[in-house]
Amino acid sequence: MATPDSSAGGNFIREIVEQDLATGKHRRIVTRFPPEPNGYLHIGHAKSICLNFGLAQEHQGITHLRFDDTNPSTESVEYVESIQADVRWLGFDWGDRLFYASGYFDRLYEYAVQLIKRGRAYVDSLSAEEIRKHRGTLTEPGRDSPHRTRSVEENLDLLARMKAGEFPDGTHVLRAKIDMAAPNINLRDPTLYRIRHVAHHRTGGEWCLYPTYDYAHPLSDALEGITHSICTLEFEDHRPLYDWFLDNLDVPSHPRQIEFARLNLTHTVMSKRRLLDLVGKGHVNGWDDPRLPTLQGLRRRGCTPEAIRAFCEHIGVQKRDGTIEMALLEHFIREDLNRRAPRVMAVLRPLKVVIENYPEGRTEELEAVNNPEDPGAGTRTVPFSRTLYIEQDDFREVPPKKFFRMTPGQEVRLRYAYIVKCVSVVKDERTGEAVEVRCTYDPETKSGGPQAGRKVKGTLHWVSAAHAKDAEARLYEHLFAKADPDDVPEGQDYSANLNPHSLERLEGCKVEPSLAGAKPGLRYQFERQGYFCVDPDSAKGRLVFNRTVALRDSWAKVEKAQQE
Ligand code: ATP
Ligand code: MG
Repeated sequence: MATPDSSAGGNFIREIVEQDLATGKHRRIVTRFPPEPNGYLHIGHAKSICLNFGLAQEHQGITHLRFDDTNPSTESVEYVESIQADVRWLGFDWGDRLFYASGYFDRLYEYAVQLIKRGRAYVDSLSAEEIRKHRGTLTEPGRDSPHRTRSVEENLDLLARMKAGEFPDGTHVLRAKIDMAAPNINLRDPTLYRIRHVAHHRTGGEWCLYPTYDYAHPLSDALEGITHSICTLEFEDHRPLYDWFLDNLDVPSHPRQIEFARLNLTHTVMSKRRLLDLVGKGHVNGWDDPRLPTLQGLRRRGCTPEAIRAFCEHIGVQKRDGTIEMALLEHFIREDLNRRAPRVMAVLRPLKVVIENYPEGRTEELEAVNNPEDPGAGTRTVPFSRTLYIEQDDFREVPPKKFFRMTPGQEVRLRYAYIVKCVSVVKDERTGEAVEVRCTYDPETKSGGPQAGRKVKGTLHWVSAAHAKDAEARLYEHLFAKADPDDVPEGQDYSANLNPHSLERLEGCKVEPSLAGAKPGLRYQFERQGYFCVDPDSAKGRLVFNRTVALRDSWAKVEKAQQE
């Protein structure tokens, strides 16, 4: 597994851009983010977005958002809209530079005619299967199609009729005439156009001829005057083809394609095919399920755009594929939330506590600090009364060693309140489980009181039973139990590694009253429990929180293990 810190922050593309500006090759850089609208964006896309928009921003350049919409059967307006919303949410703005590959269909067709006239493209009428057979292998050259020698006139005529809808799907394709013996298979007369009688979400029924990615992409880049066309490593072998189109056509510019390693994360999957499969089979609850690495999932989970941008900047840009630990992303989420999230008290698994010497019917409003990391965040009050809830985990009748929480005879502090001591336990007669803890409190130990400074080893969070609001908390674990979801026994697929404990719903939580009416999207630190975000499922009188991350940061440990 690659250690992310081996090149943290390194970005070889930034160096290329700076050199091109220094030498005057370009006066202004133009980058683009070219998603195909066939799914929702994920954190891998965020790496590409941060890179393209980030580089342009740093160097007073511009970035285009271009939908690479050349495959009508898998694309839709729903995706076009969600992608724009997600790029904006991440904090980037393309201004008025929103483009579609489908917006160039006329010009791409004219370029195809130009290639034919130059003797550099032909209509092939072999079946897809025959074309594959003619292509050869890595060790054997391909063979020419019998249609390769068609005349320019015949090719022009056939192409026009293909466009006019005279032929059914699969009967003809347009291919570049390059070299069937080229060692790089991508250069063995690649397909430029296929006949597909399918309506397109933007051009409707206007076209029944659709360009391939390899053909449409370099030309779209050139038409837009892109200077640096940044893509992922799997396109490295396509670069000679990218350049071939631009060298063989009268294009307004010749962008440079630069490849970088895609982001992979442990314990999750990122390909759209996999994400579609997870959503489609109901393994998760939609594209914005907080367990998914989609931007909508991360957002619903409570992750901020700032955290994602800091993470992307930190991991940098590499030339070789690797996998980043999920713990590193969580580390960045935590760092960001630590600065911004107000602290509150919430009890996830409540256990009733009665303070026997505290007067019935009395309520005190105690002052609590909103965020020790941010003095400007101020204070609030929390109500204290005779009956409280604490976490079940914070009480043990028979404590293990070094248990500094609540146990008979031991003093603990209740955060912002008093020191209390357990004097007895009420148990369920059948199960023997503790259902209520009886305590006494020391009135002198209140903040500002004569005994306020008295030391005890444990401090617990709590809520006042009469004042607390009901809530549901959803706790998440990795979606996949193994770091590599594909690590499965033969005959099984990646879904065998789905973690059955990836979602735990706690419906009986009690939260402090200041959270009443908290709006979806607001983020908090529940003291001692982690960072939580209000879920859109919250409705009037019902609060639902997603745990974004727990408090304990495992990144330092992971990093240390990697270095050993
Ligand atoms: P997937 O493999 O998830 O289906 P894709 O590459 O087909 O993704 P596109 O919509 O074509 O998805 O991607 C838009 C841009 O985002 C491309 O430039 C692509 O290289 C980049 N990108 C996609 N996935 C990643 C990733 N994991 N890391 C970095 N960049 C990525
Ligand atoms: Mg793609």
